[in-house]
Amino acid sequence: LLSIRLAAAREKLRQQKKDFERERDLAMRDTLTGLPNRRYMQEIMGREDEYAQRNGRGEQPLLIAQLDLDHFKLINDTHGHAAGDEVLRIFAERVNACMRASDVLARWGGEEFVLLMTHATVDDGMRVLERLRADIAGRPLTLSTGVSVALTVSIGAAQLHKGEPVSGWLQRADVALYAAKTGGRNRVVWSDPERATEPRPQV
Ligand code: GH3
Ligand code: MG
Ligand code: MG
Repeated sequence: LLSIRLAAAREKLRQQKKDFERERDLAMRDTLTGLPNRRYMQEIMGREDEYAQRNGRGEQPLLIAQLDLDHFKLINDTHGHAAGDEVLRIFAERVNACMRASDVLARWGGEEFVLLMTHATVDDGMRVLERLRADIAGRPLTLSTGVSVALTVSIGAAQLHKGEPVSGWLQRADVALYAAKTGGRNRVVWSDPERATEPRPQV
């Protein structure tokens, strides 16, 4: 009898652990895209920052990019909110296809995403983001309804400086994103002036 009770208790504990893990996973993912949500991303960034400050990274700095869809409100207004949702899902898949396995893409909120690159040099990061921008601008998204939607994305990027708090790093990426928007959208702007990309013509 005792062993039966023990087995039952063990099974209950196992189930509780599973439920807990499932809930945790749900709380950390965005339901629309399945991507890590903002809270989860902040946790990942904190961990990576801690690791980087402790061990240094040499040629592999931490890079983040803030991605904001251009004139997304217009897409909603033109094609409807459900179409807008699908654009967000397809956009997330497209970015996933462009990035490396070690990069993390999160839905930051609304039509804003954050990409964290942990195993890239700044040059790699610049190439990846430019390829991503061109991929989105160069190929309209095809929705399940057959409707084709032209989309562009503005990107602000920043490399984590030594000793800089994560909040300051994010803030610089945000300022760069703002510059990308005011500079005409559909472009990548880097925070560090010596790394700033040339304004590029619209494609
Ligand atoms: P900008 O180029 O300056 O970024 O213009 P924008 O229209 O993309 O930016 P704005 O902030 O004016 O509008 C963002 C819109 O995104 C407004 C909001 O309704 C829409 N949005 C936010 N979250 C979702 C979502 O989950 N689904 C859909 N369909 N729309 C969303
Ligand atoms: Mg926005
Ligand atoms: Mg936008």
